[in-house]
Amino acid sequence: MSGGWRADIGLEVHVQLRTRTKMFCACPTGFAGTPNSRCCPVCLGYPGALPVPNREAIRLTVKAGLMLGGEIARTSRFDRKNYFYPDMPKNYQISQYDAPLVAGGAVEIATVAGPKTVRLTRIHLEEDVAKSMHLEGASLVDFNRAGTPLMEIVTEPDLADEDEAMAFLVALKEALIYAQVTEGNLEEGQLRCDINCSVRRTGETGLGVKTEIKNMNTFKGVHRALASEIRRQIREMEGGGRIVQETRRWDEARGRTASMRTKEHAHDYRYFPEPDLMPVELAEADLAAWRGELPEPPAARRARFEADYGLPAYDAGVLTADRAVADFFEAAAAAAGDAKLASNWVMTEVLRVVSESGRGLGELALTPASLGALIRLVREGVVNQTTAKELFEELWQEGGDPRAMVEARGLAQVRDEGALAALVEAVVAEHPGPVADYRGGKAAALQFLIGQVMRKSRGKAAPRDVRAQFEARLGGPGSDSA
Ligand code: ZN
Ligand code: MN
Repeated sequence: MSGGWRADIGLEVHVQLRTRTKMFCACPTGFAGTPNSRCCPVCLGYPGALPVPNREAIRLTVKAGLMLGGEIARTSRFDRKNYFYPDMPKNYQISQYDAPLVAGGAVEIATVAGPKTVRLTRIHLEEDVAKSMHLEGASLVDFNRAGTPLMEIVTEPDLADEDEAMAFLVALKEALIYAQVTEGNLEEGQLRCDINCSVRRTGETGLGVKTEIKNMNTFKGVHRALASEIRRQIREMEGGGRIVQETRRWDEARGRTASMRTKEHAHDYRYFPEPDLMPVELAEADLAAWRGELPEPPAARRARFEADYGLPAYDAGVLTADRAVADFFEAAAAAAGDAKLASNWVMTEVLRVVSESGRGLGELALTPASLGALIRLVREGVVNQTTAKELFEELWQEGGDPRAMVEARGLAQVRDEGALAALVEAVVAEHPGPVADYRGGKAAALQFLIGQVMRKSRGKAAPRDVRAQFEARLGGPGSDSA
C-alpha cells in the first residue's frame, strides 16, 4: 500500500448453491440448456404465481453458517427488494433484509503480518435474476438462471488491501466446497462478488467514503480492480479531491474502474416482508441433524494431520487443501499402515497423475485401498520402489489388486537368502577385477557388483539385501590390506 494510506474493503459474495431446483419453483438449475427452456410462471415473474421456498437451499445456507461460525436464526424472513430490474419482470427480488438466516461468523486468513480474522456481517438467501445478452440492435433475456438460489455472504470492512481480499475469497471458497454447499465453479459464475472500498490515512479512525464495484466474477478480476481502485482513490485524495459515493464498473480491457451511477441508498429499495411466504422457522431436530453433517473444517484437519500423523505443516497443508484429497489420503494411510509413506505417494504420484491427466481424483481407477496395498508391499519388501512405480502407473489407469498382480507376474523381490547368496557368488566369480578393487579400498566398486546382481535378478533383488550379502562375503572395503 502506498505510504501513509490504507484501504478498508468489504465484500458481498454471491454463491450459487448446489441444489437441483430453483429457489421458489421446481424448475431445474444448471448452466446449460436451450435459452428459456427451464422456466415457469414463478421464475418468469407472472403476476399471481406463488413462490414455495426450497428446503435444500435453506439447509445449505444453514450449513454454510455453521461452517463459518455464524449464529443461525430460529426464525428468519424473506423480503421484497424493490427496484427496476430489466432482467426480473416482477421488479422485485425476493431476498432477506433485517431477519437473515445467519448473523455473524468469520473467516481466518493468512496475511504477511500473520493470521487475521475477517468478520462476517450476515449470510442471507435470495434468488438470482435472468441473464441479459446485448447484441447489436437487440437485447436478449434468458430466464434459465432466473430464480437460482443464491447465498449472499456479507463481510465487515476488515480487509486492508487487494491481497487480503484474494486470500479471503480463496479461504471462503475452500470452506464452502468443503461443506459441499457449492461447487464453487468460477467459470460458470457460481461465485460472484461486489466490492465496497474506501481509503483513509493511516492513524485516522473513521472510514472514508466508499465506492462499490459490482459483478466481479473472477478472483483475479477482484484483485486487479481493487489494486486500481485503491490507487485511484489515493491519487484523488492526495490531489485535494474528494471521493463520491457511487457504483463503479471494472473495465478489464482498460484496467481501470469507471463510474456507473451515483449510489442509491438502501432504503430506496423499499424492502417489505414478502407477503406470499411464511417466516422460516427452523426445527431443533433439523438444526441438530445439519450440524451433524458438517465436515471437520480444513484448518482443524490440517492441525490434526500434523499432530496425529506427524506430517510436516507443508504436507498437511497440501493434503487438506481439497477435501477429496484429504479423504483419499486418510483412507490410503489406514490401508497402508503408514501415514508418512501414504502422504509421500499422494503428494507426488497421485497429485501428479491428477494434474497430468486432467481428471478428478474420483475419476481415477486408483482407490485408497489399492494404493494402501501397494505401499504395504513396499514396506514388507515384497517389491522395490521401481516395481511399485510401474504398478502404480497401471493402477491409476486400470485399477486392480497390487498383491494379486505381483503374484501373478512373479514380481516379488528375491528375499530368499540362499538364492541371493548364489547370485552374489556368481558375480564374484565373474568379476574378479572389481572384487579386487573393492578389497583394495575402492568402495565405489561395490556399486558395480550390486548392479550385476540386480541385473541377474531382473530387478527383483532388494538392493539393501544384496549390499549386506556382499559385505558379509567380501568384508568391508579395503579388507585385503587390513
Ligand atoms: Zn420456475
Ligand atoms: Mn444480493
